[in-house]
Amino acid sequence: MQATASIWLDEPYTPRPPLEGRLSSEICIVGAGIAGLSAAWRMLELGVRPVVLDALTVAGGATGRNGGFFMAGVAPRYDEACRLWGPEVAARRYRATLDSQLDLLAFAGEVCARD
Ligand SMILES: Cc1cc2nc3c(=O)[nH]c(=O)nc-3n(C[C@H](O)[C@H](O)[C@H](O)COP(=O)(O)OP(=O)(O)OC[C@H]3O[C@@H](n4cnc5c(N)ncnc54)[C@H](O)[C@@H]3O)c2cc1C
Repeated sequence: MQATASIWLDEPYTPRPPLEGRLSSEICIVGAGIAGLSAAWRMLELGVRPVVLDALTVAGGATGRNGGFFMAGVAPRYDEACRLWGPEVAARRYRATLDSQLDLLAFAGEVCARD
């Protein structure tokens, strides 16, 4: 079997330069993985311009190396989540992951419409 690159790694990438000197910002996000970048994206939508810093490369951690499965739900199984956090919190967290999926689908639709 031949190894292939994931589509999100199969593009030329020029590493961002290191931060030089001093910079001030209302918000600094440490970590340019999916968590940091989606927080930054939300902030931009709200009119806040954050600085995102990463010790290595953008999406160089788990974000750029995962299986690419588009899943809903949290790490524990739903019955386990209910036991751990109670049914209300478990349901709220599960619903939040479904909402995130809808956001991503809408975003993907916008990108496809642009291209
Ligand atoms: C093998 C594998 C397969 C997976 N498959 C899936 C899947 O199919 N579907 C799915 O939904 N999820 C999957 N996941 C989980 C998913 O990839 C992660 O939950 C998600 O990418 C985590 O994103 P993150 O932004 O929190 O962390 P990361 O992507 O790890 O980003 C953290 C970033 O912070 C930087 N950083 C860390 N410490 C510092 C510091 N002190 N200063 C500056 N920068 C720092 C790192 O360099 C890194 O870039 C998988 C995970 C793995 C490991």
